[in-house]
Amino acid sequence: MNYIQTISQKIKNKTRLSLPALVIITTSMSVSLSGVEADLVVADLSPVKKMEVAQKNPFNLVDMGKSNVTICVMKAEPSAKLKVIVNELQRCIEQSTGAKLPIFYGKITEPAIVIGDCEASAKLGLVGKNQPLEGFELKTTPTAIYIVGNDDSPGVGSTADGTAWGVVDLNERFVGTRWYWAPDDGGRSIRTQTSVSVPSCWYTDAPAFHNRTYWPEQFHPQVMFLRNSMSWPQQLRVHQPAEWYKNEDYLKNRPEIFQVNPDGSADHSTYCYSNPRTLETFMEEIDAHYAGTKKASFICGDTISVSPTDIGIACCCPACTKLMDPSAGNLGSASRIMVDFTTRLSQAVEKKYKDKTILFLAYMNYTRAPKGAKLPKNVFVEVCGMNGIATYKEPSILAEDQAPIDDWIAATGNKVQEWQYSCWPADRVQAPYQFPHVLQGFLSP
Ligand SMILES: [Zn+2]
Repeated sequence: MNYIQTISQKIKNKTRLSLPALVIITTSMSVSLSGVEADLVVADLSPVKKMEVAQKNPFNLVDMGKSNVTICVMKAEPSAKLKVIVNELQRCIEQSTGAKLPIFYGKITEPAIVIGDCEASAKLGLVGKNQPLEGFELKTTPTAIYIVGNDDSPGVGSTADGTAWGVVDLNERFVGTRWYWAPDDGGRSIRTQTSVSVPSCWYTDAPAFHNRTYWPEQFHPQVMFLRNSMSWPQQLRVHQPAEWYKNEDYLKNRPEIFQVNPDGSADHSTYCYSNPRTLETFMEEIDAHYAGTKKASFICGDTISVSPTDIGIACCCPACTKLMDPSAGNLGSASRIMVDFTTRLSQAVEKKYKDKTILFLAYMNYTRAPKGAKLPKNVFVEVCGMNGIATYKEPSILAEDQAPIDDWIAATGNKVQEWQYSCWPADRVQAPYQFPHVLQGFLSP
């Protein structure tokens, strides 16, 4: 299923929204491309923070279909992502104006768009490491546009690239490109123009949401230009461990780790999260993983995921039966089982590994937190929006999916990540299903 993940900041963080996965379709453009005073406000783009710049001359990128500007990438070996985004900038300027700007690596040939940290940009006060995570600055001089971003990755699985963000911003804000769906299927919107002038300016931007991932990305290449990225420290390993049912040792010697059917037989498709042997098995695999002897599928870097296989929890063993709460409904009947397990696991992990965190996926019949639940500080939660974000135009549905977010923030004291199904109900109707205002309303602080 397609999904977007975001960090929910609806409750505590009132910073402005800067979420590129949020596609607001509009043709209105308010930026003055030829004005001496830079007006960086564009109706359908995130607002940026503007700094004063002394010189007032615009930078002429293309003049009547001609340009002698070069694109200079300062890293001799840039990331694959930055290369794609730089090539896209070149392609879009050419399609828009007819001028093809050459790309150079590791040197500056002015007039130029200079991309990435270098001596010249540092002299202008632009240093990637001084900027917030995934942040960038763009500054013009009469002979160059400098784009410098913070490309540091906070953890395993991170795809942070502030410099790439800045290049996309230039393409959108001044060249006027938009990406609505796969570019090669006509999803790229190009403004036809003979001249492009970037007003003298110095501005910065950085994302408010640090998990902006979309799956399956390979079917949606536009998400890279919409700044799909991950710079949140905890990354989920969903529905793991998935393959203990193939483990002959576990099947033979520890059958009690598997879920129990109503007739007492074992259901090997998922686990009994109450049995102490299940916790022991998790801990053995965690120890082996960090000792480097065996890779555990539910670990990413310092994050240990608790995310059962893709079916509801329905274990009929005595311990699970005691914790099962049918009165909590289909979003919460098994929550006490999972909170009990997650708490015990986090305590066992904390004793041995001070720097590791637990990431629990609240989903299916363990989406809601039990009333009054309090989890240890090393537990983080990712909440699944079980109704599909497009349906949030109905206040009652929005309230139903907002409640678990509020629950888990209260239960952990930590911000939560969010998993959303943007495919619903678009996958069940024959016409395009757009819901930009619903998205904007939900994600805006
Ligand atoms: Zn059980």
